[in-house]
Amino acid sequence: MRWQGRRRSDNVVDRRGIRRRGLAIGGGLGGLGGVVVLILYLLLGGNPSEVTQTFQANEPGPSTEVGEALSDKDKEMGDFVSVVLADIEDVWRAQFRKLGKEYREPRLVLFADQADSACGYSSAAVGPFYCPEDENVYLDLSFFEDMQRELDAPGDFALAYVIAHEVGHHVQNLLGVNDQVMSLQGRLSERESNQLMVRMELQADFLAGLWAHYAQLETDFLDSADIEEGINAAGAVGDDRIMRQTQGDVVPDAFTHGTSEQRVRWFKKGLNTGDIRQGDTFNATRL
Ligand SMILES: [Zn+2]
Repeated sequence: MRWQGRRRSDNVVDRRGIRRRGLAIGGGLGGLGGVVVLILYLLLGGNPSEVTQTFQANEPGPSTEVGEALSDKDKEMGDFVSVVLADIEDVWRAQFRKLGKEYREPRLVLFADQADSACGYSSAAVGPFYCPEDENVYLDLSFFEDMQRELDAPGDFALAYVIAHEVGHHVQNLLGVNDQVMSLQGRLSERESNQLMVRMELQADFLAGLWAHYAQLETDFLDSADIEEGINAAGAVGDDRIMRQTQGDVVPDAFTHGTSEQRVRWFKKGLNTGDIRQGDTFNATRL
């Protein structure tokens, strides 16, 4: 990716130098906020039971914040993230204008150890997520390093894809998709609810692909090798592959993100069409 020297977003909040020290007191689930983040659980390749444990284990306790200096590599990663976010902002601002709507930019919080979001506390172990309550994307870059190592999804565009996917959830929030999904959730069985989540996740992949379409078209920001990387990343974080790596078995009813093949297909659909009307995963007969 040709990212050096490009505009940086003002919406990156870098909290990586702040590490919480102190007691974490165990308690119940993190209230409604925890439930919201669980339902709208938007991480790439996470396991909802881990999230529940996170909320149980990481109720905030008395703590002090300790500042730590960032390495040059950390700083470079931060710069890269803010360039990617700026490009995503440009694309979505234009897309919303086309729809006669105004785009409200999300903030992107970089964190280490623990994220303190309006959706509750979560540890880095849960991966990146979007919190609709505060409209922030939370990203621990160590997740990205893990993703590169364990899922064999190398390269900088893989990280850009993760950011674009999470911002895709913000776009869903602004367009009212989240509210509709939330209002349905309570009436569905666990299996049906998981299927609905798959459609929501695949739509976020479609929206990430849509961003890549315009980033490539208008800015010469990406080349075809980058796009390949994005497709690899989407394939690497399919529920089927992650389950096979972590459990050995694939249990389709428990899928909440879609299979690798589905994720790649919707990412490509956004990438190839650049047409937001093609992204209705909720009414699609084939996922
Ligand atoms: Zn997601």
